[in-house]
Amino acid sequence: MLVLGIETTCDETAAAVVRVDAAGKGEILSNVVRSQIAEHAPYGGVVPEIAARAHVDIVDLVIEQALRQADIGVNDLDAVAAAGGPGLVGGVLIGLTTAKAIALIAGKPLIAVNHLEAHALTARLTDQVAFPYLLFLASGGHTQLLAVTGVGSYTKLGTTIDDAIGEAFDKVAKLLDLPYPGGPEVEQRAKDGDAKRFAFPRPLAGRPDPDFSLSGLKTAVRQEAERVLAERVLAGREAGLSDKDVADLCASFQMAVADMVADRCRVAIKLFRIRFGEPSALVVAGGVGANQTLKRVLQATADATGLRLVVPPPKLCTDNGAMIAWAGAERLALGLTDPLDIAPRARWPLDAEAATVGSGRL
Ligand code: ATP
Ligand code: MG
Ligand code: FE
Repeated sequence: MLVLGIETTCDETAAAVVRVDAAGKGEILSNVVRSQIAEHAPYGGVVPEIAARAHVDIVDLVIEQALRQADIGVNDLDAVAAAGGPGLVGGVLIGLTTAKAIALIAGKPLIAVNHLEAHALTARLTDQVAFPYLLFLASGGHTQLLAVTGVGSYTKLGTTIDDAIGEAFDKVAKLLDLPYPGGPEVEQRAKDGDAKRFAFPRPLAGRPDPDFSLSGLKTAVRQEAERVLAERVLAGREAGLSDKDVADLCASFQMAVADMVADRCRVAIKLFRIRFGEPSALVVAGGVGANQTLKRVLQATADATGLRLVVPPPKLCTDNGAMIAWAGAERLALGLTDPLDIAPRARWPLDAEAATVGSGRL
């Protein structure tokens, strides 16, 4: 089975071809990601109008490249999948409409994939993880702990009560004058930093529900940065934070996030075992999964609780077309295709019903 996947929900224009063999094992034949980072960098975040225009400019070329690298034509495909949401609706509209055009002309089934479901199922492409598993989904827009019991079958155990983790990385980067996107930059700076210099809070630690809170932590980073800055001014030193200060702030923030995630995951593992039995793995998904410190801390949590930790490679954690193609293939195998008049969705929560019902309105 060959599936084309198209991803345009945020600031990556991406397309990929995934092949699935008779045993259900996926193989990535091509995975083209064209990031718009340069276009958005001057604004310190994603500008929806710029994103939509950039997707229009490049989506056909990205798809053409993905097909060429996979050495196939549209007639070889078994289905065309595109992210149908959630995300910036201008971008979703472009990817989904392009997928519809290809599906219509080539006479192939269309699958409108939930972008979050694609993140959620990626570990089944990379590591053949079996259901049920505990998923820690952490991206630019979402932070959730979910029980994944099947395709389209998700039970939310916990979520953030304010900012998403990726968003917190981006905001901390911004307040430290680091470039967008913040996650990779904070991780890079943290490498030279002392994670113990600043005692940042571990929000909600020990609470019985595995929820997250990031805004207090972000404020604590701002306050410490301002305090250090004031000390430097009083001491008559150069204006601005030193590289060492920035590195220590990044390292201390990153460690606070990792500790918080580990604590919340321990609670979720207990809840999962009570409600769903033994998970086959603790799976990480979404862009924040690219963070190696987080991975290290979660590995210790998994070891201590007797679970296998699965973190897809960084370029499959951040947005890509292969995850859309794979989720499309999983749905196609169950006969879950969508009509050509399906609408893009700005919001599309990943709970049980919403994920399986493919059609929706803006
Ligand atoms: P969503 O999936 O919720 O719609 P999104 O698609 O924008 O949001 P992703 O592309 O999955 O999110 O992830 C991007 C986020 O991941 C950004 O906030 C970015 O800062 C963060 N991120 C990427 N790499 C790292 C890293 N190494 N460490 C921490 N955060 C990271
Ligand atoms: Mg992105
Ligand atoms: Fe994403």
